[in-house]
Amino acid sequence: MTSNDLALLGGTPVIGAPLAPYNQIGPLERARVLEVMDSGVLSGFIAVDGPEFDGGPMVRELERQWCGHFGCRYAVTVNSATSGLYAAMGAIGLEPGDEVIVPPYTMSATAMAPLIYGGIPVFVDIEPETFCLDPAQVAAAITPRTRAILAVNLFGHPARLAELRALADARGLYLVEDNAQGPLAAEHGRQAGTVGHIGVFSLNRHKHVQTGEGGVCVTDDERLALRLRLIRNHGENLIEAFGVEDASGLVGFNYRLSELSAAVGLAQLERAGVIVSRREELAARLTAAVSGLEGLTPPAVRAGCRHVYYVWAARYDAGAVGVPRALFAQAMAAEGVPLGQGYVRPLYRLPPFQRRQAFGGGWPFSLSERRYPDGLAPVCERMHETELLSFAICSHQLEQDAIDRIADAFHKVHAARHRLAALAKGSQAA
Ligand SMILES: *Cc1c(COP(=O)(O)O)cnc(C)c1O
Repeated sequence: MTSNDLALLGGTPVIGAPLAPYNQIGPLERARVLEVMDSGVLSGFIAVDGPEFDGGPMVRELERQWCGHFGCRYAVTVNSATSGLYAAMGAIGLEPGDEVIVPPYTMSATAMAPLIYGGIPVFVDIEPETFCLDPAQVAAAITPRTRAILAVNLFGHPARLAELRALADARGLYLVEDNAQGPLAAEHGRQAGTVGHIGVFSLNRHKHVQTGEGGVCVTDDERLALRLRLIRNHGENLIEAFGVEDASGLVGFNYRLSELSAAVGLAQLERAGVIVSRREELAARLTAAVSGLEGLTPPAVRAGCRHVYYVWAARYDAGAVGVPRALFAQAMAAEGVPLGQGYVRPLYRLPPFQRRQAFGGGWPFSLSERRYPDGLAPVCERMHETELLSFAICSHQLEQDAIDRIADAFHKVHAARHRLAALAKGSQAA
C-alpha cells in the first residue's frame, strides 16, 4: 500500500480530516448583537399605523444598507427567503389558477410559493451549462393564465435575467427572482436580485451571508414594496390606514425579522463583498486545477456574468471517464472530499405534484389541467440522474491549501479511473 493507492481501496486519503464547517460569525456580529441585548428590544415590530409597523432600528438600518449594497430602492426584510417568496407571490397579486413558470431544479420553496396563493407551478426546463431557466422554453410555456416567471439564480450564477425581464415586460408578466444563492452575482453589470420586479435573498445558515434564519425582498416599485410590508406584518389591519384600494392578497402573515437577526445581518453585510470575492477566488482556483480532466466539465460562467459559487457544480460524463458517477463520488468521499450527485430531485417528483394535492380536495390542482409526468424537463432529469457532480463550496471553511488538496483528490481518483472501471465491471459481473 502506498499513498498513491485510492483511499477507497485502503490507501491514504488525500484529506485525512473532515473539512471544517463554514463559519463567518465573529466579533463584529457579537458586538452588534450585544447592542440589541443592551437595548432590551429584541423586536421592534407592532402591526399598527406608525413607525413600529416597519420594525426596530436594526431592521430598518439593515434594509437601508441593503439598498445601498445591492442598488435597489426598497428592501423589505423577512424571517426567511421562503417567507420572502410567499410574500412576493402575494405582492404581485397572484390569484387561484394563475400560472407561475418555475425551474424544477431549485430548493423546494421556490415551487411551493405559488401554491400558497392557489397558483399553479409550471415547470420549465433548465439550460445545461448554468442549470438556470431556458428563456426560449419559458416563452413557449406562456399561456393566457401565466402571471409570473419565478427565475432562480442557481448555485450563484444569474439566470438569463435581462432576457427574462424583456420577455416578462413584453407579455405583461412579473419577473420574480429567487436570489437566495446569489448575493452579489451579476449579469451585464446588473446585480442579481434587482433585475426582476421583486428579488428574494436568503439569510439562512447555509448561505453566503447569514443570520441563522432570515431573508430580504428587494424591489424598485413603491406599490410592491408596500404590499410586501403589509404581507410581512398582519397587513389586514393597515389596509385603510395606508389607503390601499385593492385588499386582495393582503391577508398578512408574521414574517418579521428580529432585531437580533438584523444585527447579525448588518455585520455580515459589511463583510459580504470580501466573503463572496474570497469564495469566487477559491472556486476559480479549483476550476483551473481540474480543467482538462477528461469527462469533467467545471462550472461555466456565461459571458458578462459574475458567478458567486454557492455551489461549485461540475458536469460529469460517466462514458468519457469510464466510471459510474456514484463510484467516482464514493472514491472522492474516501479521499476526504464530499461531492453531491445531482442536487434536489426534479421538484415535480415531489408528492404535491405527483398526487396533485396541496391543500384539501386536490386544490389548487383542481383549477388546472397541468400534469407533472417524468420526462417533463429532460435536462434537469439528466443533471440529476447522471451528470451533475457538485461541491458545496459554501458549506466549508476553506483556504487555498484545502482547495489544492481537493484538486489533488480529483486528479488522484481520475488517474485511477481504469482501476475503478474494472472494479465497477467486476461488481456488475458478481
Ligand atoms: C435556501 C433557499 C431558499 C430558502 O431560503 P430560506 O431562507 O431557508 O427560507 C429558497 N430558494 C433557494 C434557491 C435556496 O437556496
